[in-house]
Amino acid sequence: MDHFEYRNGELYAEDVSLRLIADEVGSPVYVYSTATLERHYQAFANGVSGLDPLVCFAVKANSNIAVIKTLARLGAGADVVSVGELKRAMAAGVPASKIIYSGVGKSEVDLRAALNAGVHQINAESEAELELLSKVAVDLGETAQVAIRINPNVDAKTHEKITTGKSENKFGVDIALARDVYGRVAKLPGLRVAGVALHIGSQLTDLKPYREAYAKAAEFVELLRSDGHNITQLDLGGGLGITYDAEIAPSPAEYGKMVKEIVGHLGCNVSFEPGRLIAGNAGVLITQVIFIKEGINRKFCIIDAAMNDLIRPTLYNAYHDIVPVVEAPTGAEQLTMDIVGPICESGDYLAKGRKMAALSNGDLLAVRTAGAYAAVMASVYNSRPLVPEVLVHGDTYSVIRRRWTVEDMIALETFPEWQS
Ligand SMILES: *Cc1c(COP(=O)(O)O)cnc(C)c1O
Repeated sequence: MDHFEYRNGELYAEDVSLRLIADEVGSPVYVYSTATLERHYQAFANGVSGLDPLVCFAVKANSNIAVIKTLARLGAGADVVSVGELKRAMAAGVPASKIIYSGVGKSEVDLRAALNAGVHQINAESEAELELLSKVAVDLGETAQVAIRINPNVDAKTHEKITTGKSENKFGVDIALARDVYGRVAKLPGLRVAGVALHIGSQLTDLKPYREAYAKAAEFVELLRSDGHNITQLDLGGGLGITYDAEIAPSPAEYGKMVKEIVGHLGCNVSFEPGRLIAGNAGVLITQVIFIKEGINRKFCIIDAAMNDLIRPTLYNAYHDIVPVVEAPTGAEQLTMDIVGPICESGDYLAKGRKMAALSNGDLLAVRTAGAYAAVMASVYNSRPLVPEVLVHGDTYSVIRRRWTVEDMIALETFPEWQS
């Protein structure tokens, strides 16, 4: 459920007309709904509440500080994967005691920043990282609470670029090797190796791979305990899928029930790292039709948003529902068209072979499910400035990132001395 709906034939975010936002802020523009973010966070938190968990929003899904703050005010922690995300989470008011620092390749600088900030936990992904972390912790006179991310070798049955829990993926320590790694790193100074973490992929629409992976993790926790490790932390990652098209995703309540069944008996402090589930359907990308072009056997709708603004269709063949901001008359003929951006790449499209009522120059479209892995993945390819982000709250809205200008971009560049 989200808070984007038609009122008198016009699409609204909560009580604000998207046409009004496009008029005042310009197009393209990302628009997020506070009520939807809150609703999704609460639904997840309620679903897993029986486990008294720490719910850390995966900041990489949407890292705008106002979005993070919306969730932090409800008690959310943050899962961060870079110093940039760490700084954003802290700027948004997430206490360090609720921050988990993840990531497959943390440098010494990253580890120092995490320890200096006093994060709750560092999820390590290799023995080499743990050795480095030990050195840094000793140097700073700190003890780092660590969970080791295990790779359970489970097929999450999702898109190949967002599956992370198979042994051929770069993530985590292979479960077959992990017992020995715990044995060795437990002796390193400056570490409290207290946990097991896993995250098997994103956009999972089936509980089965979760069940399989969590059962392996639970068994592994018991094995570690029998080896004498004091395992108190269990981080179950994120990954719950959402509806872009017609997918039927498990509810947070079903997910929570399954988790409780499988890991409840361990008595661990459980944490979760949902990203997409919370932010995905809380955002839309508003874009305007520039031209309609008739090809020989194709109709192209050329819009002012492009792959640099929303790369998911190009990168993952992702489907995004695209709807007109002003509703088409009922019974309007459905035409088949490609909805494409202005960038000089054949891969620059947001939809192919899409059925829509006829469109004309200047019409506004809303690209749905654009709250996660959307604005955060934007680039300035073709010197297209980053588009603004707007947060709606009831009947008001605020620009939470202004539109870049070409001057902003050029200001970062300099001529070398020999060109003067
Ligand atoms: C990406 C990621 C998440 C969030 O995944 P979602 O599918 O957005 O819920 C959580 N944990 C880790 C380690 C990740 O890499």
